[in-house]
Amino acid sequence: MKYLTVILVLASFIIVLLSSCKKDTALEPLVEELHRIPENDIDQEIDSLAFTNAEKALIMNGDSSDTMRVLTIYKISNGDTIRCVEDSLILRSQSIDVRPDSTDSILVRLIDRMYKSVIHPNHPGVGIAAPQVGINRNVIWVQRLDKLNDPFEVYLNPEIISYSSKEIIYNYDGCLSIPGLSGRTDRYSAVCVEYDKLDGSHHTEVVEGYGYTNFTSIIFQHEIDHLNGILFIDRLHDNTKLMSDKEFEEFCKILGEPVPEKR
Ligand code: ZN
Repeated sequence: MKYLTVILVLASFIIVLLSSCKKDTALEPLVEELHRIPENDIDQEIDSLAFTNAEKALIMNGDSSDTMRVLTIYKISNGDTIRCVEDSLILRSQSIDVRPDSTDSILVRLIDRMYKSVIHPNHPGVGIAAPQVGINRNVIWVQRLDKLNDPFEVYLNPEIISYSSKEIIYNYDGCLSIPGLSGRTDRYSAVCVEYDKLDGSHHTEVVEGYGYTNFTSIIFQHEIDHLNGILFIDRLHDNTKLMSDKEFEEFCKILGEPVPEKR
């Protein structure tokens, strides 16, 4: 009996020893792997502005001439209004900056595809923000109605740093992400905007225009709102009601203006 106890104790000791050796062996490849990672890769791991794998997958699932799906807070199906909860969550989230870099193929692809999306004849707009295509990043396209030939221009990390003292009611706010509805919103006649361009240059610019033919200042306010999870329905003047497309057409007729494009 005594011998049996000694044998059992010895056997247990050997088993414990073997299993602990096994653990160390199992960890060896991982330790080797960590030693093999070059330092610049470790830097990338902690780069808070690097595109995530999910962002890369969405951006790179089409080429530069492909549009991206424009997110909407609801859709109409067989006459019913269906809330798009997942799209809304993205549209209501705060976006983060990008690192301006004209050699970044992911960023360039995102910019190209956003442009294709905003000029698409099915839903032409005068501006678009990255959250509208599912990417919570500070990137916007704005049609510069204040410049010759109304060119579209892209802005990275835009921010409104000051507002004009003149507050206005803008009659024609509408959004690609809120189909079929328009409204009158509280806005400013001009804003001072800071932004980066793709080449890394940093700019500060005062943008004006809140009239029918040139409302560039409104487009900047609308698109930069998107980056902060704000939609035009949050800025309705005195909570005036939203107008359906038909009501809006009537409203434009009363004002003697054609129906403007969405943004
Ligand atoms: Zn919008």
